[in-house]
Parts: sequence; structure tokens; C-alpha cells
Amino acid sequence: MTESINEFRTALEQVEKVIVTTHINPDGDAVGSVLGMRAILEKLGKKVEIVLNDEIPPKYRFLIDRPVRLVSDPDLEEIMTDGAFEMIVYLDASERERIGSVLEWYQGRSGQNPVIVNVDHHVSNDGFGDIVIIDPTRSSAAELVLEIAESLDVDLTPQAADQLFAGVLTDTGCFQYSNTNVDSLRAAGSLVEAGATPSRVADRIYHQRALNFYRLLGYLLGTMDLHHGGRTCVMTLPAGNAKALWPEGEMDTEGIVDYTIQVADVEVGIFLRETTPDTCRASLRSRGGVNVQKIAESLGGGGHAGAAGCTLKGTLDETRERLLAVVEKRL
Ligand code: 5GP
Ligand code: MN
Repeated sequence: MTESINEFRTALEQVEKVIVTTHINPDGDAVGSVLGMRAILEKLGKKVEIVLNDEIPPKYRFLIDRPVRLVSDPDLEEIMTDGAFEMIVYLDASERERIGSVLEWYQGRSGQNPVIVNVDHHVSNDGFGDIVIIDPTRSSAAELVLEIAESLDVDLTPQAADQLFAGVLTDTGCFQYSNTNVDSLRAAGSLVEAGATPSRVADRIYHQRALNFYRLLGYLLGTMDLHHGGRTCVMTLPAGNAKALWPEGEMDTEGIVDYTIQVADVEVGIFLRETTPDTCRASLRSRGGVNVQKIAESLGGGGHAGAAGCTLKGTLDETRERLLAVVEKRL
């Protein structure tokens, strides 16, 4: 880790322009860590652009201090008018298949091969890139970004501290998941020292949700059913019900899956959502030691031991049966 951060420091001395990016469908950690990394690199005098594959969800937009770009933005090429980007920093990117098309877009337009830096905390990360700063014992990419800031002697602004705090907060499930430990709490403490305001960040992310969210939550709690003698809990969302409960805008389901493992004696929780007539998305959670990353991986997905996900071909009924069969073998 120290060695790879040193490599990053040396590489930074050679570059002026950096693209910072993250995985598709950015979550709180992805958003917080790209914004925090931009602030740090700018303090080091770099010209930085954040280029994302997908939009930042509304509830994290209060963290944005200056515009970020989307790879689909028709004006994106403007960012290249004053020279090439020599480096792309990926944060929280877990696997190559989830990193989106930022690198292809950049190479396609510029013909250049930037230095790729991979900063992540997923055990499933395959270590792509030239400089690899991966530590699966870290709660969040944001915690790693803080460590990088400290190693590079960069003082965080209160705003950057809020951004990174949001990453630690969301990836630890408000300091409730098993990745809540001395390191993640110490990181949170350092961020508060640097000016983060935990109550404001938590309020904006968790207590200002759309009314539709609560209606959806009510519906989904009603779909929960138990399998495997009460050790597995499944909640399901047919596409038609999703549309009826959330007619417009991007549906927010973040955190709802956690209720599946808050039922007494449940060890594996599944939130299964029909996304097209023959595709479903599964979010998996575990409590008590079952490794859901292995379950997701065997079905083409990935994640962490306690929180993972995958996309499955088939109807809700078919994919539920397939998932339950795989889960049963791991109980
Ligand atoms: P969530 O259930 O919150 O969508 O995802 C939980 C964790 O699993 C996250 O850390 C996320 O990175 C990972 N994850 C979710 N879906 C996928 C997937 O389709 N492929 C991979 N590789 N990881 C996933
Ligand atoms: Mn993360």
C-alpha cells in the first residue's frame, strides 16, 4: 500500500492533467471518493476533470462543488482543447466490467494511453491498471482516498472532508456493517477534524427522500418471504409494480435490501428486481458468515463478503429459484 501510494506520488510528478472516474451507477462511496480525489489533486496543482459513465443520483448531488462530466455529454471533447490527459484515476471500480467506457472514450478521441491508477477496496478487483492501490480491509474507497491525502501531505477542505465522509458513511451502512472498525471510525474522526459535518451529510443522504421511496419500501417489506427454514429472506419487485410505485425519474432503492437480513435468524437476504421481461437484478446481503460475494460471483456478479450483486437472465420466478438453489449450497 505505502509502496503503491509512493508510485502514485512519483507518477503525479510527471502529469498535469488527470481524469477521475468510478464505476457505473455510482453509489455514495463512488461519488464521495471521486469528488474528494479531485479536490486533493487540484491542491497538488493538477488540472482535473471528473468524467462519469452515469449520472450522480439526486441524493448525493449536494456533495458536488463543481460540475462533473458524463461520458455521454455531447460537449465532452471540450475538455481536451488544452492538451492530453496523462492519467486516469479509477475509484471504487471493483471490476473491469463495471468501469464503463471512460477509457475507451478517451483513447478513441485522443489516441493516447494514459497511466491508469486503480484505487479500490473490493476483494473482487482484478488489479487492472498501472498503479494499483487496493486494500480490501478498508471500509470504502473514500477511506483509501483519505489515506492517500495524508501520505501526500494534502490538507482537506471542509467540503472535501464532507465528500469523503459521505463515502465512509454510506459504505459502512452508517457505521453498522462489519467493516465498521478502528480504521473506518478513525478515518471518520479525521474527516470530522478536517471539517466534515456528519449530521448534515447523514441528514441529506438518509432523511430527505422522496415520498415514493417510503411507498416503495412499504410495498417491498410486504413481499418479504422466508426460505431454507427461515435462513434466507427474499423481497421481489416486478417491473410493473416498480413503474406504478415510481412512475417518473430514477427509482431509489438504496438500503432497502438491508431489511431482509434484519429479520431474526436470517443469514442471507436477497432483493430481486425485474429490470426487463427477461432480466433481473439481485442484491445480496449476509449476516453471520455466509459469503455472498462467492454466490454473486458464481452467477457472473461480484462485490463483498457481506454485500454483493449480480444480473440474471430469466423471469422473477426463474431467477429466484436459481438464486435460492445456489444460496442453499452455501448455508
Ligand atoms: P448493491 O446490492 O448495493 O447494488 O451492491 C452491493 C455490492 O456488490 C457493491 O459493492 C457492488 O459494487 C457489488 N455489485 C453489485 N452488483 C454487481 C455486479 O453486477 N457485478 C459486480 N462485480 N459487483 C456488483
Ligand atoms: Mn465502495
